[in-house]
Amino acid sequence: MINVTKSFLPPIEEYEEYLKKIWDKVYLTNQGPLLRELETKLKQFLNVENFHVVTNGTVALQLAINALDITDGEIITTPFSFVATTTTIMWERCTPVFVDIEPDNFCIDPEKIEAAITDNTKAILAVHVFGYPCDVDKIQEIADRHNLKVIYDAAHAFAVTYNGKSLLSYGDISTCSFHATKVFHTVEGGACIVKDKYVSDKIELTKRFGFNVDDYQEVGINAKNSEFHAAMGLANLKYIKEVIEERKRVTDLYDELLKGFVQRPKNVDNLEYNYAYYPVIFNSERDLLDVINSLKKEEISARRYFYPSLNKLPYLKAQYDCPISEDISSRIACLPLYPDLSNEDVILICNIVKKTLREKEDYCLTKNK
Ligand SMILES: *Cc1c(COP(=O)(O)O)cnc(C)c1O
Repeated sequence: MINVTKSFLPPIEEYEEYLKKIWDKVYLTNQGPLLRELETKLKQFLNVENFHVVTNGTVALQLAINALDITDGEIITTPFSFVATTTTIMWERCTPVFVDIEPDNFCIDPEKIEAAITDNTKAILAVHVFGYPCDVDKIQEIADRHNLKVIYDAAHAFAVTYNGKSLLSYGDISTCSFHATKVFHTVEGGACIVKDKYVSDKIELTKRFGFNVDDYQEVGINAKNSEFHAAMGLANLKYIKEVIEERKRVTDLYDELLKGFVQRPKNVDNLEYNYAYYPVIFNSERDLLDVINSLKKEEISARRYFYPSLNKLPYLKAQYDCPISEDISSRIACLPLYPDLSNEDVILICNIVKKTLREKEDYCLTKNK
């Protein structure tokens, strides 16, 4: 069985070393020594300031919306993402307003943002999809002109640098996910990276119930992470370079073997990528489904990611047309990608993809593009 992803695990002895420290101190959670160590090391590694490790990437988004005082308004967002990008907006009792994406990199199209701004717009919540950067400069320019906050769901952007700095350092707040399936993980976990010190201090409070000793200052929630999660993060962080290198090896081999058979996102200049996913676009949904089925017969799982386009979620209160997102989401899938995926397995996967497409009449279309 080859899954679309497989969590990296450090040598168990190295995790146990950290567990011993937890047992020695009997300090299990509440911003303990391992969590503080993880925060310090991640800050250094990512080269960012005002950094908070939290429970998961979804709560990170909720904390971000709350900390920027975005209440009861419209948030312009992307239809091409994981569902949590939209549901956190709704959970915080705001209204998602969908703006279509760019076909080349799957991120929100800045050219279309201004037409969606109303008197009630409070913020833009964009996603660096698959770790490819949004047009951060244009988005900031629009936000400045209309006095809007910018939040980046950077769940895919761990360790990505753009124009020489961390992609996580753009916007008012960027949020990360350290879920077991992501490039770097703490089993469950996430982070907020905050531009403004005042907003950062607010998250410091609101992530732990909004009080400090006997001083109750804000309405907060519990978004703390535990020493056990921090231990996994510390053990994993030692291997992050190898993890990304191995992902690059798999990606390069896919690129070589699938050239001419599938469409790929456009290359981006000044990008140090993390090889988080291997998305491929087929000519049609039919091709996509046939390839997924052929892989499934060999116990290989490719995943439709992201599908459906979020503007089609059944519980939205308004209808939005996002033809580019709907089109891409109907024919995009992510192929298996994880550090110890062998070259033999990548070759096997590519042979199945190519064989399936070759058997189809319209395969020549892609081949000639
Ligand atoms: C994984 C993911 C999230 C949610 O993160 P969790 O840590 O699982 O809560 C949010 N947005 C995107 C784009 C994601 O991929």
